[in-house]
Order: sequence, then C-alpha cells, then structure tokens
Amino acid sequence: MRTKTIAGNWKMFKNFQQTEDLINGLKKALDFTDKSVKVIVCPPFTSLALAGSLLKETPVALGAQNMYFEDEGAFTGEISPGMLKSVGCEYVILGHSERRLYFHETNESVNTKAKKALASGLIPIVCVGETLEEREKNITDLIVSTQVRGCLKEISAADVERIIIAYEPVWAIGTGKTATPQQAEEVHLLIRKLVGQLYSWATAEKVVIQYGGSVKPENAKELLSQPNIDGALVGGACLKADSFASIIKSATA
Ligand code: PEP
Repeated sequence: MRTKTIAGNWKMFKNFQQTEDLINGLKKALDFTDKSVKVIVCPPFTSLALAGSLLKETPVALGAQNMYFEDEGAFTGEISPGMLKSVGCEYVILGHSERRLYFHETNESVNTKAKKALASGLIPIVCVGETLEEREKNITDLIVSTQVRGCLKEISAADVERIIIAYEPVWAIGTGKTATPQQAEEVHLLIRKLVGQLYSWATAEKVVIQYGGSVKPENAKELLSQPNIDGALVGGACLKADSFASIIKSATA
C-alpha cells in the first residue's frame, strides 16, 4: 500500500520572514492527526534550517530542491547531501525541468545525484516529463521512458523502492495547464510498468509516483483519485498555506 505523498516545491520564493509566516500558516492549517498523507515541504536552501526547526514537532518532512554529488570540497555555490541532512532534510528534488532547462541537468547528472542522495540517506524525488513539442510529436512515452531508465541506472531494487518519481509534463508546469487525470494516469502507468520491467512488479508496486503540473485545490481530488497517481509535487499552489492544505486534504481517503 503506497502512502499518498504531497510535496511542495517553493522554487525561488520566500525569504526568511516569509518562510516563518508560511510555515506557521501551515501549522495552523494542517491536520496533524491525519497520518494517511505524507507531507513534504521543499523551501530554498536559505530557508531550510528555519523551516526545519519550525517543523520539528510535526510530521511534515523537509526536502531540498537540488544538491551536489560530492561530500565537500572546492565547489563554490554548491550544497552537499551531508549539509542538507544536517539541517533536517530527508528528501531532495532532483532533475526538475527548470534545472534541466536553465542549469543543464541531464539524466546522467540526475542519476549520479540520485545514487549519492540514496547513499547519504536522502530520498530523491526524481522528476521526469515531456515538453509540449514532444507530446505533439507523440513521443511522450519514449521521452519519459528514456528519462526513467537514465535516472535509475545502476540503482538497486531496494533503493528504487525508496525513490519518489515525479511525472511533471513540462507544458503543465507553472502554465495553469494541467494534464487531464486520464493523460496523467496513462503516463504514470507507463512509468510503473517500466519499473516493473527493469526490476519486478513487486518493486514497481512500491514506488510512489507523484504528478506535478499546475495542481490546485480545484483539480487535486480527481488527479489523486487515479490508481497510479500516488501524490503530487506542487509548485505555485504550495506558496499559500490554505491552498496547500486544501490539496493535502484532497489526498485523504
Ligand atoms: C513544480 O514546480 O514542480 C510545479 C509542478 O509547479 P506548478 O505546480 O506551479 O505547475
């Protein structure tokens, strides 16, 4: 049985004060007695320690939006897995389409980072998804399969069971355009079947696959009711406590 998992990707939003306000808002808005949904917040690096300390007595987990694959060294501007763990991170988003587009992340670099994250005790949220052009050319399956194969290369079945895969069609991110529940379910099933082929069906059934792309309180319930959609990676709608809390509520049984 997979736990519905809702993660909020704050992207490059929220300074120190705004972080305090949003986390305090979430603490008021969330029902911590409901253990059926796993909630993760992923603030920018500068807010991780503050968010981590404010969330200490809650079940909300902390995640980062990226990391480097070395433990330490002369890598100006980078952050190591150990640094993330030291401020309470349990998760790290890897290969978000904005990182692929603006910062030249590739399936290879995501794979290297995913292996390092797992070896360091962090759970990677590995993002995959096709562009509009690729969807229109009818090569969504090929693109997503290539990304999943590349990002999971040489990762053991035991580790894959801990990974979260986020299917985020690039054309739906921050655009207000959402994949229909049927479009999303189709790709989620494809991803699960591929994991089944690469590992085993038992492994595939354990992998949490989130949908991301303009998830809002209005469309969350229908998306999250699809059999292979195990949660959501939420961008814009996680920046307000009420809308994020409402999406989380939609995930409850
Ligand atoms: C994201 O950044 O991962 C995302 C899905 O953004 P949005 O919800 O704003 O489309």
